[in-house]
Amino acid sequence: MRTKIIVGNWKMNNTIAESALLARDVLSELGEGFSGCEVGMAPTYPALQAVGTLLEGSTLQLVAQNCHYENDGAYTGEVSARMVKAAGCSFVIIGHSERRQYFGETNATVNLRIKKALSEGLKVIMCVGETLEEREAGVTGAVVSTQVREGLEGVDDISALVIAYEPVWAIGTGKTASSAQAEEVHDLIRTVLVKLYGEAVASEIRIQYGGSVKPSNAAELFAMPNIDGGLIGGASLSAADFAAIIKAAAEC
Ligand code: PEP
Repeated sequence: MRTKIIVGNWKMNNTIAESALLARDVLSELGEGFSGCEVGMAPTYPALQAVGTLLEGSTLQLVAQNCHYENDGAYTGEVSARMVKAAGCSFVIIGHSERRQYFGETNATVNLRIKKALSEGLKVIMCVGETLEEREAGVTGAVVSTQVREGLEGVDDISALVIAYEPVWAIGTGKTASSAQAEEVHDLIRTVLVKLYGEAVASEIRIQYGGSVKPSNAAELFAMPNIDGGLIGGASLSAADFAAIIKAAAEC
């Protein structure tokens, strides 16, 4: 039985004070002692400590939006896995499509970051997903399989891994993959994992859906057999909407 996991990716939004306010509002929407599913929040780096302090004593986890594969050094603007771990993060998102699209991330650099994050004791959310052109060209399966295989090259233990399937055409666009479209790709990802790691390991790995999840479509998506929660962008910036999505997952 896989526990559903919902993570809010706040992207480049909110000052430290605004982030703290949002975290406080989410906690109060969920109520004390919420434990219906696994939940995480990914603020910007400067806000990690303030949000982490607020999450102490709750079941909610602190998540980083990225991390580098070197420990330290001349990498201006980057933050290492051990730094986000030391800041209190338990999870890190790696390979988000915005990182791939705007910051030159490739399957190879995603792979390096994943290996480093896991070696530092972080749990990893690895993002994969096809562009609209790729979907229209009928290569969704090939693209996503390659992202999974190359992202996990040389990773022997995936017990601390979550995969987020995020079709690029659905991120921040208001267009959601239908539950059937999403399930088809989630099923394919699990099949790739079975080939790489065997049935027993693959059946334990959570695969989140991401791409314009909202309170109105969350329950239908999370009811699908291979959709184990969501990576939520825009809707995670509203405490009420994020809490409604979390509750939908908890009730599935
Ligand atoms: C995301 O960026 O991970 C995401 C899913 O964004 P949105 O929910 O806004 O589409």
